[in-house]
Amino acid sequence: MYPASFSYSSPTSLDDALALLAEHGEDAKLLAGGHSLLPLMKLRFAQPRYLVDLRRIANLSGIERSAGELKIGAMSTYAALAASDLVRTLVPMLADAAAQIGDPQVRNRGTIGGSLAHADPAADLPTVMLAADAQMAVVGRRGTRVIPAQAFFVGMLTTSLAPDEVLTEIRIPLADAREGSAYDKCRHPASRFALVGVAASIRLAADGTVLHARIAVGGMGPMAVRVAGAEAALKGHAPTAEVRHAAAALVAAAVDPQEDLQGTVAYKRNLAQVYAERALASAVHRAGG
Ligand SMILES: Cc1cc2nc3c(=O)[nH]c(=O)nc-3n(C[C@H](O)[C@H](O)[C@H](O)COP(=O)(O)OP(=O)(O)OC[C@H]3O[C@@H](n4cnc5c(N)ncnc54)[C@H](O)[C@@H]3O)c2cc1C
Repeated sequence: MYPASFSYSSPTSLDDALALLAEHGEDAKLLAGGHSLLPLMKLRFAQPRYLVDLRRIANLSGIERSAGELKIGAMSTYAALAASDLVRTLVPMLADAAAQIGDPQVRNRGTIGGSLAHADPAADLPTVMLAADAQMAVVGRRGTRVIPAQAFFVGMLTTSLAPDEVLTEIRIPLADAREGSAYDKCRHPASRFALVGVAASIRLAADGTVLHARIAVGGMGPMAVRVAGAEAALKGHAPTAEVRHAAAALVAAAVDPQEDLQGTVAYKRNLAQVYAERALASAVHRAGG
């Protein structure tokens, strides 16, 4: 399969990339790892006339801790995230998710920015970003704006990014000592995408009860979502197996899966229950509970 013909540029500055986007308008597409865009082009589902490659632009990748946040450049690969001591220590659910994406080839090319901008309903990182309460720094010709994860994802394969904007950095507020997070997913055996993926972030009070919980689920509908009911069910309680089971049941009740070749609605709801319990158990354990 071959894509329709297109022109290609690999600018070395963000300003040049933005100028190319402005010049070519809707005909242009940014290229990051290429692991979603190129297959779509080969299938002719996407036929951009102009590709603007982000890979030669300095400062778009890298992971650093700064003023209560973990800052991750949009061009950081999954392999870099999974191997990063900062990510593993400070946002373990992100390391969990990055290590489970696709195969080594995908992990070495695919980028966090590409995954978030693509917003595939079965992708892993949008779910993690919701549970992390991440902020997306986006640069366009009109300046920079910072978009909270919950406002960034707006539907299937759809974000609030404008066509002439570049996602440059992801900012994750840092956990305190009694916070733990985890991501677990049931992988599609062929593609490795999430049939269901659950991210949980739990903060415990000194007495061991839950001060704050964020739970997000993906793969079960058009986009990843937070499950406020399950979060509320944990708050103020000791996160025992019984309490976690009840919260996971609320996750299973909140999702809206469709029956398809992968399973029935009942089977998929059961997957959501099981993987929510697993993610919650690991997050509580990591929080010291
Ligand atoms: C075999 C295979 C298995 C996979 N398994 C999984 C899996 O298990 N879990 C999972 O989550 N994903 C999986 N993926 C998808 C993979 O994660 C892709 O890498 C990801 O969806 C897109 O990231 P990318 O860097 O490759 O972006 P690209 O494909 O280059 O771009 C994707 C889209 O995002 C836009 N874009 C890219 N970067 C930016 C930016 N900085 N700002 C604005 N827009 C931007 C592009 O214009 C394009 O529209 C798999 C892919 C393959 C081929």
